[in-house]
Amino acid sequence: MQVVDKGLILRETPYKEADIMLNILTECGGKLSVLARGAKRKGSRMSAAVQLLTYSEFTLYESGGRYTLNDAEPLEMFFGIRGDIVKLALASYFAEVLEAASDEESINPELLRLGLNSLYALANTDIPNEKIKAVFEFKVAELSGYAPNVFSCICCNSPDGLRAFDVKNGGLVCGKCDSGYNRAADPGVIDAMRFIMREDIKRIFSFNISDASMRQLSLITDEYLRIHFDRNFKTNAFYKSLL
Ligand SMILES: [Zn+2]
Repeated sequence: MQVVDKGLILRETPYKEADIMLNILTECGGKLSVLARGAKRKGSRMSAAVQLLTYSEFTLYESGGRYTLNDAEPLEMFFGIRGDIVKLALASYFAEVLEAASDEESINPELLRLGLNSLYALANTDIPNEKIKAVFEFKVAELSGYAPNVFSCICCNSPDGLRAFDVKNGGLVCGKCDSGYNRAADPGVIDAMRFIMREDIKRIFSFNISDASMRQLSLITDEYLRIHFDRNFKTNAFYKSLL
């Protein structure tokens, strides 16, 4: 059966000879493993479209749950990340997270949209990397079923005096309930979290935040994703080693 779908290439693994196994987050089919025969061969007409972190349209052949690539056209290659090692490292982290957050069975087009918008922001805008990273991490967590409570204290339910974030239990804490072991969350952090939770992915980076609040938000989102996905992302460690 022939299938046409669009998707972002999250990983490529060398297979036999000139073949590559692609891991693609697709719009309609969720995450798919696709065998690209001869894709590494010199002069292959598909070589641009099968590059890591490229968004392409794929024509696939499916048989017994296995997919082979028949054709591919690149739609967006995010050139702006390819000449910059820091941006490329951050984009690779996004790919690793998207792979962890998606699976073969469930289709989550919002996850793909978030990935594409984050890569676009990284490649084509002057939004700081740190901000793109924090927004991406927070939204991925939410889209993966780990939405934190950012509206009231997770201990006493009060909407007032919120000043910290309990990473493990997933939500804000007020001054009276703060054990002192939580991450600081000033009003700028709280506003940013609420914005990220409610805004459409298209406008998700369009908020102002001070440098001090940005630092607090980054610490929270980095740890939040690591704890709730229960894994240390190697690509995140590499990205941080470059800073
Ligand atoms: Zn409280």
